[in-house]
Amino acid sequence: MYDITALYEAETVPQAIALLQEHPRAYIIAGGSDMLIRIRKGGLPNCELVSLRGILNLRGVSLEADETLRIGPLTVFSHLVRDPLIRRHIPPLAEAAEFVGGPQIRNVGTIGGNICNGASSADTAPTLLAWDAILEYTGPAGIRQIPIENHYLAPGKTALARDEILTAILIPKQNREGYHGCSLKYARRNAMDLAILGCSVNVRLEAGILRDVRAAYGVAGPVPLRARTAENVIRGKPLSEGASLGKAVRNAINPRTSWRGTQEFRLHLAEELTNRALAQAIRAAGSSVCDA
Ligand SMILES: Cc1cc2nc3c(=O)[nH]c(=O)nc-3n(C[C@H](O)[C@H](O)[C@H](O)COP(=O)(O)OP(=O)(O)OC[C@H]3O[C@@H](n4cnc5c(N)ncnc54)[C@H](O)[C@@H]3O)c2cc1C
Repeated sequence: MYDITALYEAETVPQAIALLQEHPRAYIIAGGSDMLIRIRKGGLPNCELVSLRGILNLRGVSLEADETLRIGPLTVFSHLVRDPLIRRHIPPLAEAAEFVGGPQIRNVGTIGGNICNGASSADTAPTLLAWDAILEYTGPAGIRQIPIENHYLAPGKTALARDEILTAILIPKQNREGYHGCSLKYARRNAMDLAILGCSVNVRLEAGILRDVRAAYGVAGPVPLRARTAENVIRGKPLSEGASLGKAVRNAINPRTSWRGTQEFRLHLAEELTNRALAQAIRAAGSSVCDA
């Protein structure tokens, strides 16, 4: 049973914020692929919902005047998979969107819902972390922007205030220019399964040197995370030392044992997926580990 006492449908962001303020017990719903399951399981008895689905300007991807890529939080995964701007500027996000669920889920689930549910297993989170995404929150006091790394506070808990809405995911030009990346997911099967480990690696190369490396993970800790100490080990090193990233990542993450996989298996996956993603990112940059 869906124990919902009221559904308020917003058509604009200010309207949604006003509805959240008028109804202090109400939760935001976008595609509903997480929320409706929680409600059906009895996790939110007598709940009130504020739906964002009618806010049309929160859908789609655009390029701003300064070439910041702006992703509307209501953009569904199937859109991201084929969006020409995403495919041109950050192709690993199209790959990550294709990892999610099956076709039905990709048609209803939104990228905003994927990162606002605060789940460590969210398939798009490692990619957005690896591209240094900036999140735009809008609330009663106006707009604030925060790096995605500061968005995650604890499992299921984000930095969004109760009456704030995620209104954009921004990838500024300087965070993507010269970078090439690869996103990988390991699950027990190829569809309709949550990640045992997710990984996204970005590189910026300069004359055979790994000038910058960003490595991000899902299910490698309580929230999606960057392996910054491992990135520091390899930054500035020649391509031939690339394989040391995987080993360094093992010391930079802290996955848990769950019924999906043991901690040791996740550490093994992290090393293996990191090195594969790094090699693929280097290839996408037009080079190869053997070029060193
Ligand atoms: C069968 C099935 C398979 C799935 N497989 C996968 C998978 O493989 N990988 C994966 O990552 N996920 C998977 N999911 C989970 C889910 O589909 C995704 O997390 C999806 O992105 C959620 O988006 P939504 O729009 O449906 O979110 P909703 O259910 O509408 O909302 C999720 C959460 O985000 C909040 N929220 C949503 N939008 C905003 C916003 N703009 N501002 C502030 N808060 C907001 C809501 O309040 C809620 O807390 C699966 C779900 C199902 C049912």
